[in-house]
Amino acid sequence: MILRVAILTPIRKLFDYLPPVQNETNPEIGARVLVPFRTKKKIGIIIAITDKTDYPIEKLKRAYTILDPKPLFPKALFKLIYWASQYYQAALGEVFEAALPSRLRKEPSLGLKPKKNKPFLEKKIPAIQEKTVIILNEAQQKAVNTIKKSIGKFETFLLDGVTGSGKTQVYSEIIAHILTLEQQALILVPEIGLTPQLLSRFQKRFNVPIVCLNSSLTEKQRFEAFENAKTGAASIVIGTRSAVFVPLKLPGIFICDEEHDASFKQQEGFRYHARDLMIMRGSLEHCPVILGSATPSMETLNNVHIGRFQGLKLPTRAGNAELPALQVLDIRHKKLKEGLSTELIQKIQEHVENKGQVLLFLNRRGFAPVLMCFDCGWVANCNNCDARLTLHLRSKRLQCHHCEMFIPLYEQCPTCQSQTLKPIGIGTERLATVLQALFPTCSITRIDRDTTSKKGAQQEIMDQIYKGETEILLGTQMIAKGHHFPNVTLVAILDIDHALFSLDFRSIEKMGQLITQVAGRAGRAERLGHVLLQTCHPEHPLLKTLLEEGYSRFATSLLAERRLTNLPPYSYQALIRAEGNKLEYALNFLNLIKAEIPKLSSDFKILGPIAAPMERRLGKHRAQLLFQSKNRSTLQKYLQNLVHKIETYSLSSSIRWSLDVDPIDMY
Ligand code: ADP
Ligand code: ZN
Ligand code: ZN
Repeated sequence: MILRVAILTPIRKLFDYLPPVQNETNPEIGARVLVPFRTKKKIGIIIAITDKTDYPIEKLKRAYTILDPKPLFPKALFKLIYWASQYYQAALGEVFEAALPSRLRKEPSLGLKPKKNKPFLEKKIPAIQEKTVIILNEAQQKAVNTIKKSIGKFETFLLDGVTGSGKTQVYSEIIAHILTLEQQALILVPEIGLTPQLLSRFQKRFNVPIVCLNSSLTEKQRFEAFENAKTGAASIVIGTRSAVFVPLKLPGIFICDEEHDASFKQQEGFRYHARDLMIMRGSLEHCPVILGSATPSMETLNNVHIGRFQGLKLPTRAGNAELPALQVLDIRHKKLKEGLSTELIQKIQEHVENKGQVLLFLNRRGFAPVLMCFDCGWVANCNNCDARLTLHLRSKRLQCHHCEMFIPLYEQCPTCQSQTLKPIGIGTERLATVLQALFPTCSITRIDRDTTSKKGAQQEIMDQIYKGETEILLGTQMIAKGHHFPNVTLVAILDIDHALFSLDFRSIEKMGQLITQVAGRAGRAERLGHVLLQTCHPEHPLLKTLLEEGYSRFATSLLAERRLTNLPPYSYQALIRAEGNKLEYALNFLNLIKAEIPKLSSDFKILGPIAAPMERRLGKHRAQLLFQSKNRSTLQKYLQNLVHKIETYSLSSSIRWSLDVDPIDMY
């Protein structure tokens, strides 16, 4: 008997082992096994049990122990993991590593049997405990009816509903139905900060065990959540990206909320898109998949157009709330007070006086993005990256937002010793100071990565806002995501102009989504909301479409542009990134790869290699090579051959490379 094992490493290869000598547990496909690997002990997953091997049998090493009596993953999930490793050209072991909670990735301490987890709290009956019954509106009811018809089979729905249209209510209704069938629901959210809100809504309605899977859990909690999902003890699972791999005993529905959000894409190591994997999972598990968003991605909209997904619309806000009015503040030739126009300051004043909450969106943290000497022109740069250091005044630091390196703030210019170092530009920290000076009696809350980094801080801030203890809140994109701020009557959006001229073709899409999502935080309850957007480019055609005709028309125009230029979703891309001690080394390596592809078919293009838009990062020089094809399978075929070839290279250890299939970020 020979065990073929995927070891939990990024090596794209399976290894053969003889079974352990004393076989306490029979090896099964999908169980973990502890094996000798190079000079270490490693954990792997048994992929096959065979009697053949390509190695001389006498050279095979013996596995130490089988760690699980049963496969860790149900069959469909095992298939998903296998599929993901093929599609993303990743090592199978690396995909398993991403799918397992950390406790199961480590060697159990010797003599300690893996403890059987205690069963989750008993399921209570009845499962549904409706207190305040919400009557669905017509669009919601129609969406619910349509999705219900697909229970038990695979179909993907786009629930395309404006902000506050009651998408969550639709999920909730479907989950109620799933629970009566004694099945489970898995809901992915883009950010941990959103789990408490969803959890409390579901807890109010459902009397069943609910688990949350996110990075704030301890190792033990994570493991228990995994087990409870797997045994079926938990009926509802809410999680971020990696929860797409959580095993479920009886899956009934898969939901990806805010499907357009970039955080579903893993950008390091095993690079995958959780939304796309969820759809694949739905097909393997024969369950419907709901993608929800007020600002669907171009990929998803295209899938609706070509009939692959079914579109369901919620065109109006639920209840009595109305969509806010959007207004442009043209700031050309206007004198700004630290980034704020006089008109905007007046509006803030008015809303505060009328006891409304004001929300300002500025997607840049820190005090100022640049620190410059006004005598000699010196600018604070990062030593490791092609980037400026951001000034953080409160912590008296200069910090790189790309490599996190920081240094104490200079007292004087390091080149000319002048005292005239000045901050240029404006970040959230500075905006908060400015607002406090302008509105001294108001309580001002800042939400960004700096103010929420402490455990529990984000929830604390959110509670303050819900309780109405804050008059003015400001923040980065953290405030754009899904939060329900019932008292906000004015939203102001600052400084988005750079997105209109970015090199990255996706940045306009992201801008449109951000504006719409941020605007959607206004007027979510009884009081009408207003949204103001400061810009120097009120005539930009796409921006105009967005502001005057809404996201849906904006998306249509954007898709037309993408079609003309042959960009995704009308083509498929993969990006090979390389980095080395010199740019030349990275470029040479990519040229070598390029030469591996002999004859190009007409529907396949290679662009580059070129230096990455930010060439130096963390002290390394980076370059990239882009593949683009009209045909997904052509691209896949090329990539597969290529990765096999690269694996045979003997590369200098200073060269590192990675492959990103369906990249969403070109930096
Ligand atoms: P979304 O998920 O689209 O942002 P929610 O489901 O959170 O929307 O709904 C927004 C608000 O409207 C919530 O306070 C919710 O309770 C309420 N709501 C949802 N559906 C209805 C309905 N049919 N009638 C009245 N209020 C509703
Ligand atoms: Zn100087
Ligand atoms: Zn840096």
